Amino acid sequence: MPDAHHSADIKERIVSAAPVEDDSSFELKLRPQRLAEFIGQNKIKENLAVAIEAAKSRGEALDHILLYGPPGLGKTTLAAIVANELGVYFQPTAAPLLQIKGDLTAILTNIRDKQVLFVDEIHRMQPALEEILYPALEDYKLDIIIGQGPAARTHTLDIKPFTFIGATTRAGLVSAPLRSRFGIVLRLEFYTHEDLRVIIDRSAEILGVEINDEGARELASRSRGTPRIANRLLRRVRDYAQVRGAGKIDLPTAQAALQMLEVDRHGFDEVDRKLLLTIIEKYQGGPVGVNTLAAALAEEPDAIEEIYEPFLIQIGFMNRTPRGRVATQLAYEHFGITPNRKQASLF
Ligand code: ADP
Repeated sequence: MPDAHHSADIKERIVSAAPVEDDSSFELKLRPQRLAEFIGQNKIKENLAVAIEAAKSRGEALDHILLYGPPGLGKTTLAAIVANELGVYFQPTAAPLLQIKGDLTAILTNIRDKQVLFVDEIHRMQPALEEILYPALEDYKLDIIIGQGPAARTHTLDIKPFTFIGATTRAGLVSAPLRSRFGIVLRLEFYTHEDLRVIIDRSAEILGVEINDEGARELASRSRGTPRIANRLLRRVRDYAQVRGAGKIDLPTAQAALQMLEVDRHGFDEVDRKLLLTIIEKYQGGPVGVNTLAAALAEEPDAIEEIYEPFLIQIGFMNRTPRGRVATQLAYEHFGITPNRKQASLF
């Protein structure tokens, strides 16, 4: 996929929220199947539980759902859970895989009754394909053009009622007409350390890894609020514990392993540090535009907006202003740098 998440650099990042190649089979094992197993995001779970119950009791397809938020927070997992809870077929795909109109019409003509069609990266959907989608979402109808030129005719086909679940890391890039077709719009938030600790305990149990409470808390606090990262750190620290320790993850083992992996106490790695230091040292604390910042770091602007900065903003190390990104007082404190007067005036 021509996607910022898949650039070679990011693949190397242990704390990247984007999936890396060897995550997939591992994630499958750890992926919760039911709403009750899905930890955190309580408001979302409550919303979904009510909507699922109501759709089931009416015997109708559930309303279309838009899930948005940073990568690795559980959008795909939730979509699969919705299908499980409804007891319907789950069909996952991603907008970059739908290249020509035929790709989408083939899917829509084969829709099963009340199934879930999950489309990841919905903001990358091509406008010509969106046009096909609108009548399908609104009236379960599909317009097919047969023939070409003056002899061309449009046929309208009825398709089975279905639930469309779109996921995106960039809600702002979803077109307004597409966005308006979703009856339920849900934003996933970064997870608390406590939620992440519970997720790590659950994953450790599934993997048969021994981890104590302090070890789990340590991993949780360095996971950038992201379950995908929590699970990945658990796996890497398990390896370390097997090779260097007695196989059990306790606080000293977790700390030693994370130090070796160069994941600091906030879950920052080299890229985060470089990003903040570039704003502070090269651009006097900002504001600096995202494109300039991306060029200075040799990263894609998309990767900065989707992957790095949401977490840095969430924990208060960086702000987004109309004129660009600025480093906050916390960031200066983190690096032990004293801001000058001009810089301090930005806080
Ligand atoms: P997204 O689609 O938002 O990028 P995923 O749904 O692929 O994220 O989630 C990544 C992994 O994190 C999943 O395989 C799952 O194991 C784990 N995960 C995500 N959310 C939760 C949760 N709430 N509870 C337990 N595990 C979770």
